[in-house]
Amino acid sequence: MREACGVFGIYSFKDDSPFRDVYYGLFALQHRGQESAGIAVSNLEDVKVQKGMGLVNQVFNEQSINQLHGKIAIGHVRYSTTGSSNIENAQPILINSKYGPVALAHNGNLINTEDLRCELKERGLSFIGTSDSELIAALISTSDKSDIESAIIDMLNKIKGAYSLVILTKDSLIALRDPNGIRPLSIGKTENAYVFSSETCGFDIIGAHFIRDINNGELVIIKDNEMRSRIFSNDSREALCIFEFIYFARPDSIIHGRSLYESRVNMGKYLAKEHPVRADLVIPVPESGIPAAIGYADESGIPYGEGLIKNRYVGRTFIEPNQEMRSLGVRIKLNPIQDAVRGKKVIVVDDSIVRGTTSRQIVKLLKEAGASEVHMRVSSPKILNPCYYGIDTATRAELIAANLSLEGIAKYLDVDSLGYLSLNNLVKAVALPEKRFCLACFNDDYPVKVPEKMQSLKLFFK
Ligand code: SF4
Repeated sequence: MREACGVFGIYSFKDDSPFRDVYYGLFALQHRGQESAGIAVSNLEDVKVQKGMGLVNQVFNEQSINQLHGKIAIGHVRYSTTGSSNIENAQPILINSKYGPVALAHNGNLINTEDLRCELKERGLSFIGTSDSELIAALISTSDKSDIESAIIDMLNKIKGAYSLVILTKDSLIALRDPNGIRPLSIGKTENAYVFSSETCGFDIIGAHFIRDINNGELVIIKDNEMRSRIFSNDSREALCIFEFIYFARPDSIIHGRSLYESRVNMGKYLAKEHPVRADLVIPVPESGIPAAIGYADESGIPYGEGLIKNRYVGRTFIEPNQEMRSLGVRIKLNPIQDAVRGKKVIVVDDSIVRGTTSRQIVKLLKEAGASEVHMRVSSPKILNPCYYGIDTATRAELIAANLSLEGIAKYLDVDSLGYLSLNNLVKAVALPEKRFCLACFNDDYPVKVPEKMQSLKLFFK
């Protein structure tokens, strides 16, 4: 599973440059996307943008501080879920419109991109990149409304799918979440600024305090140092992606008032109750499996320890174009601690299994390191359906749980036993009402109807 993107925005009451805060905000959100990064800044007269391929600290340098001086800024880190990974698709996207310069940063995926692209091309527009975010910008710039706020509402009436957006104009900062609130976005504040961030860990790093989450279907505008809100849609149920709780968001973030760390520890505890097994050691698949493994060990009384070491300095496996290289990627990233696992019955806890390729490699590594038994425990239910809202879960044909029985998966992984957390216990672990989440990966209940032609596409382009 890979994240979609991270967005960040800041409106400073002082005329000092908010660039540094956005830079650090993106730094905290780096786990949500590592392919490209960008920052746009307004000095109330003009908007400048700098973006590039790579990590935040590769794209910006000391010179950026002088070049991106202003009062309002937005930033973006990207993992491409639609559109190729290239500079044309890097964000923020900057357009010159009749409302002046407008920059936007998007987290999520639209599901009606084909229709929108055709419609806009028929109106004579051409596109530089291939991302759906460019369509959002085009819809704003071609609106016939007289002011930017009405043009954004106009655009929102046309797009469907998942979107958390931060939008910068010369003199305002706008943030909004789609009618289902599929991707998160929160409001924070420092002494001198309002801040928006995909996750609250973006506030902590700059000393901002959390005010509240933006609601589904809500648009928040900051202009003339004042913040106001309007609801642009109130006829859809909230459906935050449950994978924010399982894996995507950082464990030190808080969503809907719930600590992600605590939720994941609870997932591990419920997993231990549901799938107990006699063993010597509980180990996580680092780093995302750590809290659930701690919870499993705590509940079961089996000692917790490290059994796999992650090389933190290699990129993610998305850079590999095929299955064969993906397998190699696991070996590059993870190495077993032979002394920790040799001769032991090991329970290895991971947050999810998508294709099964990575898990199979991990089991192989542990057995080669001398583990006498390997029991795999997964702190989420079986992923049976693909995501169309901005998460790379692969196609249904590639999802191992959609194609094999539990026994078949265990055999493929070559584990001594396998257990997934049930949906019921996942919801209990998060301790929020089930109806507030998108659980479509598990139960096929998509909050936004996915067009049939999109379902038949191979969704994600690498
Ligand atoms: S389909 Fe799955 S990954 Fe996509 S938003 Fe829903 S729960 Fe999240």
